[in-house]
Amino acid sequence: MPPFDQAPRLVTSFIDGAFVGDRGGYRIPNFYPGNGQQFSALQEADAAEVDHAVRVARAAFREGPWPRMSIEERQDILMRVHDAIIAHADELALLECLDTGILMREIRGRHLVRAAYNFRFFAEAISQQPDEAWSQQKGYFTYVTRDPVGVAGLIAPWNAPLALASMKLAAATAFGNCCVLKPSEQTPTSLPRLVEIIEAAGMPRGVINVVNGRGSVTGQALVEHPDVDVVHFTGGTETGRTIARTMGGRLRRAEMELGGKSANIIFADANLDRALDGALVSIFSNSGQQCLAGSRILVQDSIARDFIAAFVERAARIRVGDPMAADTEMGPIASEAHRRRILSFVDIARGEGARLLTGGHALDRDGYFMAPTAVMAASNGSRVCQEEIFGPFASFLTFRDAEDAVAIANASQFGLVGYLWTQNLDTAMRVSRRIETGVMWINTPLNRELRAPFGGVKDSGTGRDGAASSRAFFTVERTTTLPIEDIPLRRFGAEAVD
Ligand code: NDP
Repeated sequence: MPPFDQAPRLVTSFIDGAFVGDRGGYRIPNFYPGNGQQFSALQEADAAEVDHAVRVARAAFREGPWPRMSIEERQDILMRVHDAIIAHADELALLECLDTGILMREIRGRHLVRAAYNFRFFAEAISQQPDEAWSQQKGYFTYVTRDPVGVAGLIAPWNAPLALASMKLAAATAFGNCCVLKPSEQTPTSLPRLVEIIEAAGMPRGVINVVNGRGSVTGQALVEHPDVDVVHFTGGTETGRTIARTMGGRLRRAEMELGGKSANIIFADANLDRALDGALVSIFSNSGQQCLAGSRILVQDSIARDFIAAFVERAARIRVGDPMAADTEMGPIASEAHRRRILSFVDIARGEGARLLTGGHALDRDGYFMAPTAVMAASNGSRVCQEEIFGPFASFLTFRDAEDAVAIANASQFGLVGYLWTQNLDTAMRVSRRIETGVMWINTPLNRELRAPFGGVKDSGTGRDGAASSRAFFTVERTTTLPIEDIPLRRFGAEAVD
């Protein structure tokens, strides 16, 4: 029996340094994907509660110490937050595992390390970025400084709540903002506790507030709130469009980190052992529930048969099971409804003339498990190559040459990341430049350099995260000009009339 007793029975919003407590209202059950049992419930924040959270964040911004602290003071607190996350890693990992079904060792070994590092990274980044100064204009000196934007609305998805939301929280707060975070209704538990830990580490009360509830209710109220200055959103493309429309109507900025259907291009001259490992990890880690997944695998004709056979053999051997067990390689799908949706693509694939290579079925045990799945797609135009399935579902295609690979990779509405495997430097350079994507990985999967911009093109989003990119989003420029010599001024009312 999983340790359900270590999670709160009722998850509520966390506002102004405290949980709001049991006050009735709409509730959403929360199920552990590892066995399908309910372990807690979420009390939804309605528009009034969201309004309260935004007011608290605004007051913390206008009157609180956080935006006025020196960089060094803020850095000290952010570094303490880093240490506190590591100190509470076991507790947070358990809550995250119960919410999501992500493997415990992945959460402990990667997600939480990354969540902590996000605070350390931005603690360092805020002191390392130059301001502009312009002295070319005769007689004047102009400098450009950056102020925090104000109140940030942060909306996070369910597939990696701690890792993704911590990036938003660290970036928004490091640059001096106050914020209201809305986690996914499917994964409400770990983030309010994270914020409680962050405050105990020294972040002033009210700088970070968490409102929990459905996107259409709580999320919508946050995005529509007139006192929210920017929204940073990670989630699906259609939700992103809705939020971008609302924010556009309000003339406020929104950053969108959206879905993907990334091409993983494997040339015959690649190191095929590494390419095989890379292909498997990029589609089956986190049960394929990642925007970065290499879900369209393009293999060059001459090696396709052997490569795909090797992939299928390995996929069929993946140990699927208990996310809390140390030797599990792939855990459950995050929800019953999502598993149903993923598996519906098996029938769609068959209807499109694809060939099922492995998997394609649920596992006969409690919890939302399914077999790692791969299909040989009929064409790149088919739905299994165009739609984001967001699960352990690989769609294979073959290509003739570099031209063909580029054409197939780019025939997609998405453009988040791209993978390319070749030992020919010329091919690597020429092909990688032509793939329409925000991020390109050559001979390596899933790398994230936080200093560099991250984000998509086309329907994969707008804007970028990263040191300078996050600063650009979470601050506003202020241009200040002063004369450095006596500049003659027109003297209204004192000028002689001819
Ligand atoms: P959704 O778009 O369904 O939800 C994302 C978040 O938005 C959730 O918190 C959701 O709340 C909320 N939301 C939904 N509707 C609204 C609304 N009208 N107004 C405000 N908020 C709303 O995505 P998923 O949670 O299903 O996440 C999976 C998606 O996220 C995939 O498409 C994936 O590719 C993308 N993603 C992108 C990443 C990137 O960096 N580019 C990284 C990770 C994931 P609720 O869940 O409670 O409805």
